Amino acid sequence: MQEHFTFQAPLDALQDKIILVTGASDGIGREAALTYAKHGATVLLLARNVKKMEAVYDDIVALGAPEPMIIPFDLKEAKKEHYAELSAQLISSFGQLDGLLHSAGILGVLSPLAHIQADTWDDVMQINVTAPFLLTQAMLPALEKAPSASVIFTSSGVGRTGRAHWGSYAVSKFATEGLSQVIADEYEGSTLRFNVINPGATRTKMRAQAFPAENAELLKTPADLMPTYLYLMSDASLGVTGASLNAQ
Ligand code: NDP
Repeated sequence: MQEHFTFQAPLDALQDKIILVTGASDGIGREAALTYAKHGATVLLLARNVKKMEAVYDDIVALGAPEPMIIPFDLKEAKKEHYAELSAQLISSFGQLDGLLHSAGILGVLSPLAHIQADTWDDVMQINVTAPFLLTQAMLPALEKAPSASVIFTSSGVGRTGRAHWGSYAVSKFATEGLSQVIADEYEGSTLRFNVINPGATRTKMRAQAFPAENAELLKTPADLMPTYLYLMSDASLGVTGASLNAQ
């Protein structure tokens, strides 16, 4: 059993840390945002759906956790200048960024490669690969101002072994693994660490879209994955970089 499966973070594990979470309106990102806040972090919630993020905001405030911030942001449409504006805004408001969790993602269409439309391919690559690249690149100055920053990318089982009909999604997750390995290698020995989590089958909207007929009650919930998300975000994983962990 690897230590991250059973990791139990003290409640102050993320005290005073500023953590940006993409896909914070739903699913795994939502649960990670709540969990990080519960452990003391000021969480910056990034997604498109403001109503859902307001609900997460309310839940965090109700916990008595540090007040979060809502960042309405469309990872499909955003251009380089929007990322630069966001970076400047975060540095002026918070001075540094201690953590960045890339959880936002889309499935696209499950079908044989022969039938995948170019637009679907482009959208999946944009949201799952190009956006995490641009956001990470834009946040490097803020991450370098933190004493020990952690960046977490989100992969999938089909990002390690290709599987028929998983099309652009699988290819985007292979690219995510590569992105993390390349940047981890470039920053080896620095204060920054970069790692990947494969959540495994988890009870969310995306999973229901991929497997509409399965009994979702049998799946792990986002809350079940949180030991790994806490391990990589907290100082318990100092020195761990370039790794690709399973959360189940
Ligand atoms: P959900 O579909 O539940 O949540 C996806 C999140 O991504 C939402 O918060 C959504 O917010 C956000 N998002 C989607 N498009 C955009 C966009 N254009 N701009 C900004 N945000 C966007 O997915 P999960 O929680 O299940 O998945 C989280 C991650 O885990 C993904 O990377 C997924 O590939 C990966 N994963 C999930 C597995 C599972 O079984 N659930 C298994 C393996 C990997 P909004 O709509 O508000 O923009």
